[in-house]
Amino acid sequence: MIDIPDFVYAKDPHGNALCPRCRKPVAQCDCPVVEPAKPKPPPIRPNIRLDRSGRKGKVVTLIEALPKDELCLKDLTKALKVKTGSGGTFYVTENTGTIELQGDHKKCAVEYFKEINK
Ligand SMILES: [Zn+2]
Repeated sequence: MIDIPDFVYAKDPHGNALCPRCRKPVAQCDCPVVEPAKPKPPPIRPNIRLDRSGRKGKVVTLIEALPKDELCLKDLTKALKVKTGSGGTFYVTENTGTIELQGDHKKCAVEYFKEINK
């Protein structure tokens, strides 16, 4: 007969299941719950450039080649507006998303994406 290993929690003399880590009854255990590792989202590597064409000399920071995901773009735009303290908007074109920030925030935006892709 094959001996099947018993994966059930060990029990204390009173029949309570014991935590495999701290050996306390599970009801009294306060070990942190280990969450299963979430798959890391693919890094966002946008094309960040300044543009002043057709804007009466006003410069805007364009963040292009973003995922075409309105919720994601909304969050990113909000975060970038807070980070730069400037106005901004986003729009979805055929296959990608674009964020437009008022002013020259290229450096700031590059840093921001470096940070969130860590
Ligand atoms: Zn425990």
